[in-house]
Amino acid sequence: MAKSYEVTKAPAQGTGRRGFFNALASIGASAVTGLVGVKMLESQRAEAAEVPAPLAESTGNVILRMQQDLEQTLASGKTPSWLMVVDTRKCIGCDACSVACRAENPTGPAGNFRRVIKKDLPIGPRPWAIFKPVNCLQCDDAPCARAVPQGMIIKRPDGIVEFDHDKLKGVYAQAAAQACPLKLAHVDDGKTFTQGTPRPQEYENRTFVESGKLYSRKPEGNQLTDVARKCTFCSHLLDAGVLPACVTTCVGGAMYFGDANNSSSLITEITQGRRIFKGHENLGLKPRVIYFTESMPDTPHIECVACHS
Ligand code: SF4
Ligand code: SF4
Ligand code: SF4
Repeated sequence: MAKSYEVTKAPAQGTGRRGFFNALASIGASAVTGLVGVKMLESQRAEAAEVPAPLAESTGNVILRMQQDLEQTLASGKTPSWLMVVDTRKCIGCDACSVACRAENPTGPAGNFRRVIKKDLPIGPRPWAIFKPVNCLQCDDAPCARAVPQGMIIKRPDGIVEFDHDKLKGVYAQAAAQACPLKLAHVDDGKTFTQGTPRPQEYENRTFVESGKLYSRKPEGNQLTDVARKCTFCSHLLDAGVLPACVTTCVGGAMYFGDANNSSSLITEITQGRRIFKGHENLGLKPRVIYFTESMPDTPHIECVACHS
């Protein structure tokens, strides 16, 4: 069994050195403008200087490094402990990762595995928005698993939470999806985007691997209808020695992925000493998708308790 990943705990927060998500946490506390009431804090250069700068390497180099890490982990034969890290400072909200996810993991109008949340913030004279990509957190203590009979949702030794599509159907699928506090799982209704139109698209019916089995969403014989589905960390790609699609597609270089058990991996390197939002600890999720909480150097930022208590 893989050990749980470990990250350096964030230091106590000062008033001027606030993390990104923690920063989002005080919207509504002190109104600067209008309804939402945003409290904007001036970033302080001296404090920003304490924050590690975003990695200087190009996106390509980082992906190459993560790919080499992945191959090293698989070659070692040791059980990995997969961890996904998001640097929201680099996310530009382009949704390329969501498109890549849909292309890699066919889903229909009923839901998708990944989305990018945009939050408009009424601060200052210029438009201001932040972007937060979200997908299943692969919780080490998963509420979805607690909501259904044992064996329907499996925790893989590498940390991936796997839905058993042969068992997690009907009312159990609904129960699992509803139990996810962040609504990161959905029940597939079997519909495609183009069915019933003059030009149904064959690519929507292509075969694909999910959780170790071959599927197709063809209207006739679709075994995923009425089944709960969610992000798998692209386990079919990992098992073949390839990084998840959203990671390799990220044009902003905001996505990191790797084995937290590998002390020489990039994922271990970049999480050391960083301020990290593991999030929703009150829900006991123990997520394997975590976020850097550092503010942009030299950039005013906000606090937002309205979204994150
Ligand atoms: S994020 Fe939701 S669907 Fe994913 S493991 Fe946690 S509770 Fe389950
Ligand atoms: S890891 Fe794969 S399944 Fe999960 S969000 Fe990324 S592309 Fe989608
Ligand atoms: S591809 Fe990268 S930059 Fe674009 S929305 Fe996704 S995480 Fe953000």
